[in-house]
Amino acid sequence: MQKLAAGNWKMNGSVAALAEVRAIIAAHPSPACDMLLCPPATLVGPMAQTAKGSKLMVGGQDCHAKASGAHTGDISAAMLAEAGATHVILGHSERRTDHAETDAMVRAKAEAALAAGLVAVVCIGETEAERNAGQTLAVIGRQLDGSIPAGATADTLVVAYEPVWAIGTGRTPTLTEIGEVHGFLRNRLKGLIGAAAMSVRLLYGGSVKPSNADEIFAVPDVDGALVGGASLKAGDFGAIIAALSAA
Ligand code: PEP
Repeated sequence: MQKLAAGNWKMNGSVAALAEVRAIIAAHPSPACDMLLCPPATLVGPMAQTAKGSKLMVGGQDCHAKASGAHTGDISAAMLAEAGATHVILGHSERRTDHAETDAMVRAKAEAALAAGLVAVVCIGETEAERNAGQTLAVIGRQLDGSIPAGATADTLVVAYEPVWAIGTGRTPTLTEIGEVHGFLRNRLKGLIGAAAMSVRLLYGGSVKPSNADEIFAVPDVDGALVGGASLKAGDFGAIIAALSAA
């Protein structure tokens, strides 16, 4: 399985920031892992142009469940694909919180993504209160069951485990806790999509940085990372790409 280093720029970046993309491409012309960056929608086209001919793939951060229509401010999966995206992040905890996205909404968006030929990067993760209450596996199991698209395969689905309390906080679960969740997800996925689950990339996300990437990538069933803050700078994201390539 080819591992995946994915970056989520969130609502950050501008045309000037494409210099970081050029630096990543120059430093990693043929990495031993896949590389993906998901900028704001306005930068998907320009970043895809910048990445043309390189190994860097470009993705969106959300799409609408419908192909077109009266949905002011939204963007369809086909529009992202036309702009050069190959992937789209769906169900990020910030979308689930800020836009009240439910598992059913995430699944509908993921099915729209697949229909448009995009890979769906489906995010799940527990809150700190849920972890403290011993509900982590129950919560992420329910989110996985409810969010993954019908007909998902290893080529069309990536799952990102992102504990909400670890995003942007500098805190991470222990390596044992990460391993426990990823093992659980692999098994649960097997029950949902069968043998293909063995080849679905399971990413860990939440305060991944150059200083902890090596140890996180050594955890069984961690097939890469979804990286927020550290994906904004070529040096940091490049170090994470290098760590994953060496894992
Ligand atoms: C994220 O936004 O998906 C994320 C993991 O952020 P950070 O790496 O900054 O914690």
